[in-house]
Amino acid sequence: MNKNEPKNIDSRIIFPKGQKIENDYFIGTVWVETLVSSDSIFNCAISNVTFEPGARNNWHKHPGGQILLITGGKGYYQEEGQPVHIIKEGDVVKIQPGVKHWHGATQNSWLSHIAITTNSQKGAVEWMEPVSDEYYLQLMVEEKYA
Ligand code: MN
Repeated sequence: MNKNEPKNIDSRIIFPKGQKIENDYFIGTVWVETLVSSDSIFNCAISNVTFEPGARNNWHKHPGGQILLITGGKGYYQEEGQPVHIIKEGDVVKIQPGVKHWHGATQNSWLSHIAITTNSQKGAVEWMEPVSDEYYLQLMVEEKYA
């Protein structure tokens, strides 16, 4: 862990950390708090999502798109067929409708982001295969020696 990063995630989280996610669409420990539930007026859903080091979601698509506001730590974002991008506090990621992608923490840092599901009347998410350890762990090697 970078010495400038806080050891205690909770000391840096602005919005509530929420509940631990218990499903098969994530690897590692991930927390989620719903901030805004979708309704027919706003057609968007907003959540605070916190990934502990090494945690990430499966490959997935959002039928109506998604915007991520990175609020803490450091992580990865990748679209299918594109290189992996480092994402960190202050970054904004616009994910076009139907684009296959994944996001999560690096192995050595936690990551916190606000996830805005846009056009939620089209559906929230379509889950796909996991990001394997074999793939994810070699990203760490590249980061270490970059
Ligand atoms: Mn997403």
